[in-house]
Amino acid sequence: MKDKYSGLLKFLILLLVIIIAVWYFVPRTEKETAMPKYVLVIHGGAGTILPENMSAEREAAYREALGQALAAGEDVLKAGGSSLDAVSAAILVMEDSPLFNAGKGAVFNSEGINELDAAIMDGATLNAGAVSGVQRIANPVLLARAVMDNSGHVMLVGAGAENFAKEQGFEFVEPDYFYTDYRWGQLQKAKKAGAVILESDDDLIFLNKDHKYGTVGAVALDNHGNLAAATSTGGLTNKRYGRVGDTPIIGAGTYADNNSCAVSGTGTGEYFIRATIARNICALMEYKGLSLEQAAEVMVHDVLIRMGGDGGIIAVDAAGNIALKFNTTGMYRGFVVAGEEPVIGIYKD
Ligand code: ASP
Repeated sequence: MKDKYSGLLKFLILLLVIIIAVWYFVPRTEKETAMPKYVLVIHGGAGTILPENMSAEREAAYREALGQALAAGEDVLKAGGSSLDAVSAAILVMEDSPLFNAGKGAVFNSEGINELDAAIMDGATLNAGAVSGVQRIANPVLLARAVMDNSGHVMLVGAGAENFAKEQGFEFVEPDYFYTDYRWGQLQKAKKAGAVILESDDDLIFLNKDHKYGTVGAVALDNHGNLAAATSTGGLTNKRYGRVGDTPIIGAGTYADNNSCAVSGTGTGEYFIRATIARNICALMEYKGLSLEQAAEVMVHDVLIRMGGDGGIIAVDAAGNIALKFNTTGMYRGFVVAGEEPVIGIYKD
């Protein structure tokens, strides 16, 4: 009888040990072996981009630059870095490339000056930083980040932004750092035609007719589940001195919220500001329960087109879904998901 009980006791103890072991180890094993789930999406502007207008060399150069930007951002995410650092790293590559209308290679305003705008937003905290009209900072996205982290404000403009940059130890570049013959030529043509134009590639294409853009943006979801968005631009060729576009306006061209999504836009800034495109995509998800795809479709295809605006957005949501939407013929774009090959696109597929 005693033996029978002690046998049962041993069995129960063994069972308990097994249950505890399963409870303790299984979730851990799953956690440790789970695929890192990061996503990075970038754009280098949307517009009238047609294969017949593009030389093979130019297309290859764009693809290479987009690939480098994705790789720079992915390096950060792969190492467990934050989405904020990843979007900055991707944008730095495009700001340094003369191909894009951001940093080096930015378009000129009507006074022949480069006035640069940039913004960054942290979806985890809803902290944001932005600069507008800066003229001597090579990488405005880094200054936007410094505004977010160290100024106690969200947005600084012009001389005040540059004073802050000095305090923060930023190096200043000469204005001709941003110069390219290509952009200067565009300004001369725009002036002759008396038009404000959005960035265009080969031919000069006028506002609201057949234009192209070159603003750069990045959105990311990191392994910690945090979203971030950043955008950087020179704005519009021949824009009025002091004009501010959508890029540095939080909620217009740039927005990130862990509750919904992260968005970066490119297009006719005035429309993006009036329709608060980036924030509205997140709001449609949050308040109306739309999917990222549906929310982006509503803003880019219904709302923007109804208003007469055009352009595109890139977005990623908290579950890692991606949207790349544009109502133009093309958008320089790319994305990479953890464990997969990067994908780069230019034209409508
Ligand atoms: N959205 C930018 C602006 O209006 C232009 C662009 O996307 O190229 O400043």
